[in-house]
Amino acid sequence: MFKLSKKIQSLPPYLFLEIDKAKRKARQEGRDIIDLGIGDPDQPTPAYIIERLNQAVLDPATHRYALDQGMPVLRQAIAAWYKERFGVILGAENEILPLIGSKEGIAHFPLAFLNEGDYSLVPDPCYPPYKGGTILAGGRPYLMPLVESNGFLPDLKKIPQNILKKSRVIYINYPNNPTSATADAGFYKEVVDFARKNKLIVISDLAYSEMCYDGYRPLSFLEIEGAKDLAIEFHSLSKTCNMTGWRIGWACGNQELVSALAKVKSNVDSGIFSAIQLAGVTALEGQGEHVKRMCALYQERRDTLIKGLNLLGWNVSAPKATFYVWIKIPSKTDSLKFSSLLLEKANLIVTPGVGFGKYGEGYIRMALTVPKERISEALERLKKI
Ligand SMILES: *Cc1c(COP(=O)(O)O)cnc(C)c1O
Repeated sequence: MFKLSKKIQSLPPYLFLEIDKAKRKARQEGRDIIDLGIGDPDQPTPAYIIERLNQAVLDPATHRYALDQGMPVLRQAIAAWYKERFGVILGAENEILPLIGSKEGIAHFPLAFLNEGDYSLVPDPCYPPYKGGTILAGGRPYLMPLVESNGFLPDLKKIPQNILKKSRVIYINYPNNPTSATADAGFYKEVVDFARKNKLIVISDLAYSEMCYDGYRPLSFLEIEGAKDLAIEFHSLSKTCNMTGWRIGWACGNQELVSALAKVKSNVDSGIFSAIQLAGVTALEGQGEHVKRMCALYQERRDTLIKGLNLLGWNVSAPKATFYVWIKIPSKTDSLKFSSLLLEKANLIVTPGVGFGKYGEGYIRMALTVPKERISEALERLKKI
């Protein structure tokens, strides 16, 4: 009866619908499901952060509207963390903007810079809000395929000149969801040069910088010389501190880009709950020990899964970062069918690669978000089918 707007109609279809339905049905039937599908930490938020929230919420000053631009103490804590972790100097006053989770910032950002019909350069497969945010802003995503032969990095030379002329932003996300690929300084330098030459804004999504293994430490895009002239970076406590439900993240980098996003947001929200902002300060200040334990936990799960899959002959290499394993489907079926098969025959939930974009076809994603014993059980089940 009510006609949806053209923008809403042109959003990519939600391909997980069938899987979701099958998942719910399987649960209702009481089957013993192992869910490797969701990118959401299974561990609780560390106790020291919860204690700070408990304390903060008792202060009535936290009950009122927060400032749109975030509390100064949170912005200062973010600046201190960036300096310590990446050696990047950020102005707490004007180069940092706290967000209600980084997803909303990522999705709102294109509203500040895209005009009707402008392109954004989007990796495919990718985290869905890159495409969604572009379309809601009236823009058009131009897909940059992430393929194994190029280390799941976009091949910038392949983007046609006529597209570049109408492009305003380029998204990069390393360590990457869903492929778990990482990028080095060489690639980032290439992106800085490319963006400068083509007058592009770089949007770097750094959600997984702290989830890394075997001594590998991801870079911030802002570490690269000249990056702050043209980039905004999104970060979040969601994955680092098991705080996905709390909704706290931030944008940082170029001052003009940060303040343009603040302008969009001042029209749509009124800041993060202050008690959560104060808990966020505590989270940032005390992350060290927690992050070490978290990485050790995922690394153990990763090793169990990779070893088991390789024993099955699946030929999967161990990711250096993120809690995802991106797996080429070992048979000639498509990713939706293969995922359904795993659910029907082994009670395993995995994410079909095509759900992240058409270049994700041929792959499935497994998340290391269940205990090691359940990963071993999943491997036993795979052996049987
Ligand atoms: C989980 C995730 C985020 C973080 O989202 P929040 O809104 O901060 O919870 C951002 N980017 C990617 C690629 C993610 O996977």
